[in-house]
Parts: sequence; structure tokens; C-alpha cells
Amino acid sequence: MDYRVIIVGAGPAGIFAALTLADLGIDRVLLLEQGKDLDARQRQCSEDMLCGWGGAGAYSDGKLTFSSEVGGYLAEYLDRDSLTGLLQTADQMYVRFGAPDRLFGELSPAVEELADRARLADLELVPTRIRHIGTENCRGVLTRMREALSGRVHTCTGCQVESLVAEGGRIQGVALADGTIRRGDYVIAAPGRVGAGWMKQVAESLGLSTKASPVDIGVRVELAATVLKEITDITYECKLIHYSKTFDDKVRTFCMNPYGEVVAEENAGITTVNGHSYARKKSANTNFAVLVSSTFTEPFNDPIGYGRYIARLANLLGGGAIVQRLGDLVAGRRSTQSRLDRCLTRPTLAQATPGDLSYVFPYRHLLSVIEMLQALDRLAPGVYSRHTLLYGVEVKFYSNRITVSREMETEMPNLFAAGDGAGITRGLLQASASGILAARAVGKRITAAAS
Ligand SMILES: Cc1cc2nc3c(=O)[nH]c(=O)nc-3n(C[C@H](O)[C@H](O)[C@H](O)COP(=O)(O)OP(=O)(O)OC[C@H]3O[C@@H](n4cnc5c(N)ncnc54)[C@H](O)[C@@H]3O)c2cc1C
Repeated sequence: MDYRVIIVGAGPAGIFAALTLADLGIDRVLLLEQGKDLDARQRQCSEDMLCGWGGAGAYSDGKLTFSSEVGGYLAEYLDRDSLTGLLQTADQMYVRFGAPDRLFGELSPAVEELADRARLADLELVPTRIRHIGTENCRGVLTRMREALSGRVHTCTGCQVESLVAEGGRIQGVALADGTIRRGDYVIAAPGRVGAGWMKQVAESLGLSTKASPVDIGVRVELAATVLKEITDITYECKLIHYSKTFDDKVRTFCMNPYGEVVAEENAGITTVNGHSYARKKSANTNFAVLVSSTFTEPFNDPIGYGRYIARLANLLGGGAIVQRLGDLVAGRRSTQSRLDRCLTRPTLAQATPGDLSYVFPYRHLLSVIEMLQALDRLAPGVYSRHTLLYGVEVKFYSNRITVSREMETEMPNLFAAGDGAGITRGLLQASASGILAARAVGKRITAAAS
């Protein structure tokens, strides 16, 4: 065998797997990344946004969320104490590589009081502790991780894995896009959201079972930071859940960025929206996503296709992302540039096209978003203002979930899956933790075989 372990994807899941294996003293580890190396990645280049050494985490906001309920499904594989310990390990690795010490959202009387007030507004507050690395610090943290792996893990960037090689029901390695085969005893597949389609194909070709995840579709909301200041001062990121009045759909806030910016994101030819904030540079606005979760039933089994279809519709109508004033949406008219010029919230994503989101979203989604904003307004007056901006489409392409064991091993022996691409996680900390989990299992077997 060429390698003991081959890791596909140098996002947080792949990197933490590599760091763990290196710390366990496992040699001959190969980390393959289809995108550029960290130094060569350019923020302005849409291709580099999600791909390259560091993965989607490189330009993420770097909010590490301590929660068994948010950011992934690891709670379904581990008991509470083991998961808490694992998340702490992942978090401490971030701190070791330069993440700030400060934690936001520690349980306090203020948080408890906020939860009570949320309840009165038909909202459930999910208390979460968060460490905020900040977009501008993520690069430094990743650079130190890259250095820590140097000489211990063989890294190859610009190396796209085309398929996995299996013989006799066991994983044997990977086939690269240039036709070369790399052999390995173990493979950890961590291709991220950008590689979700690839992962699905791999699962189909190897006969691995998967489960469709719900698809989360919605808008990115932007408003004056002062509207949510009281809440974001207490919790930094406020995760709220609402069950919509009309459809009883689960609607939630996601990725709240106080004083942040809305950004456009390229995802395999489709433009969607997202948001981030810097640790030091501040805008006048706060943004957050409002996402509606839909779970479909048989025979439909393509939530990613459904999400892409809706996002494509926004691109078709707006040539990219669309922005609309809430006042215009409610009045049944599109936003125009002159209407936006009269908006008290200045859009931070300047290239979004003023348009009409009611042409994009199914009635069910749009109504659920509106009902959520009305509930939020009861908690924080000013949210349901005509000057609130809605950007579309924000869609979370949660991959079909690959069936894995408690150690993240798939139904194929020695093939492990981790991170967002396997549908197991949805955020930095759980993605990193899943990489550690897979690497520990692999390391244990290699060490046991050697002794
Ligand atoms: C703008 C933005 C902001 C975000 N902010 C936050 C946040 O604040 N907090 C949070 O918790 N999460 C955040 N996220 C989500 C977070 O970045 C992801 O959950 C996390 O990066 C997932 O890690 P991963 O390793 O599973 O996948 P990724 O980070 O997506 O990495 C996967 C890597 O695998 C590579 N790859 C894919 N297929 C192949 C292949 N066939 N061959 C070789 N390489 C391949 C990709 O190029 C990619 O680099 C944000 C995401 C974005 C886009």
C-alpha cells in the first residue's frame, strides 16, 4: 500500500482528521484537496470561496458553536458526555492554533430572561455557547494548522478525487481525476457541501445506503444592528425556532452576524447568499438567515436538487442574488433601485439585484418566512419593518446522510465519512469533531494492528 490513510478534502473535517492522525504518530497519511493551497486562495475568486486548503471554513465567519443540537447530527452517534468531550477537544485545538479565548453566550440570568421573552413571542431560544474566530482571523488559524501538518502529512492540492477504489468489498484507495490511483488502507471522505453531489455518486456506486436530509430554504435578513443589539449583546448569535402558524413548518434563524455583511456565494454554478462578520471591522447592520425546513416523503429523494432548483430561479430572474425590501414584498411589488435608495437599511451586498422574491419561493416557504419575521418582531420590535431587507436565496444543501457507525465508518470496511459532505454535520465545530472521531478510530486500528 502507498499510504496508510487517505483523506479526501482539506476542509475542517479533513484537516482535523489529519491533525489527529499526526498527533497519534500515524505516518504515511495523504491529504488530497481539489482546490488551491491556502496561500494561493483568493477571496475574490468565486471558485476559491468554498474549495481549497481550509475548505468552506477558510472564508467562514469562524463561529464555533458548542451545541449537540446545532451544526450537525453527531448527537445521534454519541452519548451526551462523549459528544461534549469531543466538541471541547475540537474547540481546544482551534484555541491551540490561535482562536480567541473569549466565549459568548454562557448561560446567565440575562439568557434565561431572553428565553422567557422568546417563549411569549412563540419562539424557542436554543442556548448556544459560541467562540468567534472572525473571518479575518480564520486564515491565521488555518496557516498555523497547515504549518503543524507540514512534514507529518503529505498534502496534495489541485488533486481532485474522481472515485474511490474498492476491491473485494473493501476500500483500496482513490482514483484521481488525472487517472492516477493512490492506494491506501483507510480512506476518510470529507468532501464538504461542495462535494455533496460527488459523495452521493460515490455512495451509489459503492452501494452504500443514504438517507435524504431535510432541505432548508429561505432568505438572508438584513436590518439595522440596533434592532437586535439587546439580543446580540447577550447571546452574540441568537438561535431561535418557530413553528409557522399556517403550515406548522419548522422555521429557524441561522448564522446571525452582528455588524456583519451579506455575501454572495457560488455553488456549482449557482449564486446563493450567506453572511459573515469580522472580529474588528463593523458594518451598521446585522444579518441572519431565516430558513424553512422541509422534509419530503417518497418517492422524492433529491432535496439538493429541489434547493438548487429554487436558487436557480432567483438567478434566472435576478442574474444572481435578489434583494427586496420587506415593505415591497408585503405590498406585492418588486423592489427597484430607487425604492432601495429610500431604504433606511443600506444593503451590504451591493451587487444583489433589486427584485421580487415572491416569484422565487413557493407560497409555503414565503408565508413561513413572513410569519417567522412577525414572531421575531414581537421579541425585537423593528424586525418586521418595511426597511428590513431580504436577500434570496439562502439554501443549505445538506447532503444525503451516509449511513455510518458511531466511529464514522461507512458500510464499507475501512471507508470512513466525515463532515458536511457526508450529511453528518452542518458547521465548523461538529465537522472538525467528526474528523477527529474518524481519525481516532483509524488510528486505534492501525496501532492495534502494529502491536
Ligand atoms: C460563507 C460561509 C460562512 C460560514 N460560517 C460558519 C460559521 O460561522 N460557523 C460554522 O460553524 N460554520 C460556518 N460555515 C459552514 C462551515 O464552513 C462548514 O460547515 C465546514 O467548513 C464544513 O467542513 P467540511 O470539512 O465538512 O467541508 P468543507 O469545509 O466544505 O471542505 C471540503 C473540502 O473538500 C474538497 N473536496 C470536495 N470534493 C473533493 C474531491 N472529489 N477531491 C478532492 N477534494 C475535494 C473541497 O474543495 C473542500 O475544500 C460557513 C460556510 C460558509 C460558506
